[in-house]
Amino acid sequence: MPEADPESATPPIESPIQTELRRVPSIVIVNTGDGKGKSTAAFGIALRALGRGWRVRVIQFLKSGEWKTGEEEMLTRLGVEWWSTGDGFTWDSTDMESSKRLAVTAWHSAAETLHTGSHELLILDEITYAMTWGWISTDEVVAAIANRANIVNVVATGRDAPTALIDIADTVTTMADTKHAYRSGIAAKRGIDY
Ligand code: ATP
Ligand code: MG
Repeated sequence: MPEADPESATPPIESPIQTELRRVPSIVIVNTGDGKGKSTAAFGIALRALGRGWRVRVIQFLKSGEWKTGEEEMLTRLGVEWWSTGDGFTWDSTDMESSKRLAVTAWHSAAETLHTGSHELLILDEITYAMTWGWISTDEVVAAIANRANIVNVVATGRDAPTALIDIADTVTTMADTKHAYRSGIAAKRGIDY
């Protein structure tokens, strides 16, 4: 192990907490990067929000609605309104046009939530792919989030988040792929990955 840097090993003397923090009605979070944890971190926020009595809506832009994931099973039981779109992963898709249409429909519904303020938390899971592939307009998504009803907190997930989305976000986390079980030949695990 490398030796500890004496400077960073010293306990901080001044409080890192800012004294003049402001409160805002809602924030925008982006979970991006190649590592695992983007969607699970979003669902962790869903749990916190539910604990505070918030109305929570999840819209998945890629995942299949045919098989229910553990998170959908549990969060719908807890009262989350869940919309799963797409007909599986794109490489399984026989009809790309249909995947696109489903993503567009999901986006229109998301835009309505942003506009009307029907929920305190809106999770746009895997939305970056729909933007990157040109299925939905990045400009339109960014504008709708920026002009949202002010009670709607937004969490957007997916790799390669467009710069315009990162620019309007308050918190952006880029998950780093240090290691992934998949690369050593371990299959996705029920209860862990879905
Ligand atoms: P999770 O849903 O586990 O938080 P994620 O949202 O960060 O993952 P996605 O790109 O949405 O990542 O991944 C979808 C699926 O692929 C999940 O089952 C996830 O465990 C798996 N996965 C995530 N990152 C990687 C990776 N770097 N290599 C291989 N598989 C991955
Ligand atoms: Mg994900």
